[in-house]
Amino acid sequence: MRIAMVSAHTSPLAPLGGRETGGMNVYVLELSRELARLGYEVDIFTRLDGDLPPVEPVAPGLRLVRLPAGPAAPIEKEAIVRHLPEFVRGLRAFAFSGPGYDLIHSHYWQSGWAGTILARQLRLPHVVMFHTLGEVKNRARFGEAEPTLRIRHERTIARRATAIVTASDHERQLLERYYGADPARMHTVPCGIDLDLFRPLPRAESRASLGLPLDRPILLWVGRLEKLKGLEILLDAVAGLERNDALLLIVGGDDRAAPLRAELEAQARALGIAGRVRFTGAVDHAALPRYYSAADVCVVPSFYESFGLVAVEAMACGTPVVASRVGGLVSTVIDGVTGYLIPWRCPEPFAEKLDVLLANPELRANFGRAARASVERFRWSTVGLRIADVYDAARERFAAPGAARPRAIAPEAWEAAIIASS
Ligand code: UDP
Repeated sequence: MRIAMVSAHTSPLAPLGGRETGGMNVYVLELSRELARLGYEVDIFTRLDGDLPPVEPVAPGLRLVRLPAGPAAPIEKEAIVRHLPEFVRGLRAFAFSGPGYDLIHSHYWQSGWAGTILARQLRLPHVVMFHTLGEVKNRARFGEAEPTLRIRHERTIARRATAIVTASDHERQLLERYYGADPARMHTVPCGIDLDLFRPLPRAESRASLGLPLDRPILLWVGRLEKLKGLEILLDAVAGLERNDALLLIVGGDDRAAPLRAELEAQARALGIAGRVRFTGAVDHAALPRYYSAADVCVVPSFYESFGLVAVEAMACGTPVVASRVGGLVSTVIDGVTGYLIPWRCPEPFAEKLDVLLANPELRANFGRAARASVERFRWSTVGLRIADVYDAARERFAAPGAARPRAIAPEAWEAAIIASS
């Protein structure tokens, strides 16, 4: 079975921890690798954004295909929208130049838009995964609004997809409630984790190798440096800790995140905790197990996470997690067993639970053991098979006689709509 995996706005081979490169990049690459191991032929399609080969073999059965869509240089995610018609034309031509595909699997709304058009044109089942939803971001963030056109497109994509994969029950409910998605077409499959890479390492050695002190509590935050991640709450919480020798490591962020980093540094200075906060910049994914293992607690104070890989990676390394009670985190962190879930936007309860954990090495060790045991369900070999089941269900639904097919759409109308939204 040949899969066209569509990740238009960001390449799964791009360095992680930038403003736009995080969980989705990891997910698309690791899922594709797993599917290739299962015998699928997978081509990942992304936008050409530099002097890079158009087709790059990644693993047996897995290639990355870079299609021209606008300038061959990095551009803002929002600006990519107007180049999607060119991306769609390129993908269609590529499909016709080879053996073609059996199914399209798209990621994020921009690729979902491309996938919806291509599914009509190539007569293929379309599986979509949104990763984040405009409506949800709007509700979580207050103020910084997502364009209503994005939400309108998401609604159309959700209603026309053959199947939708959601990473958590929470996302599934949101799609049903706010987007009118058909529950029978939705499949909840959690994200996978490389449990051989993310495993507990000796704490003292991990600290020594990273030049971290052995005698101070260490709190860890990892991710894309973005407002939605709630770092200002974390800084307020650290300022309110009883353990005032705790060191906070903030891992992630590239040049494009420099303004937010400067804001956070100013906040830390104003709170009088600048000496207790260390920004490392982005760290290679494969080096992260040492960071998680070196830390006493990993903190995830996000306003929203559709899944939240970082929390699961930390637990896989035997590190307890203190996280906001939002989105997918509710289905990964077990409150009072593998960490604590905190009502969002409140620094005080974060500080309180962090102090509880920092004061109790035994509790930390118990939580850590429970955390590692709890992540077994996210092993890629399990998750890959569940996605394969979704593909089978989508193909069956697509081929069923009398299956309700989405209305025919005129590609020109879509092109006009997408260009109008850019
Ligand atoms: N990540 C990384 N290096 C960094 C920062 C982040 O490899 O410097 C990875 C991290 O290990 C995780 C992903 O980026 O796999 C972030 O995923 P998550 O689901 O937590 O957040 P998202 O990016 O989807 O908002």
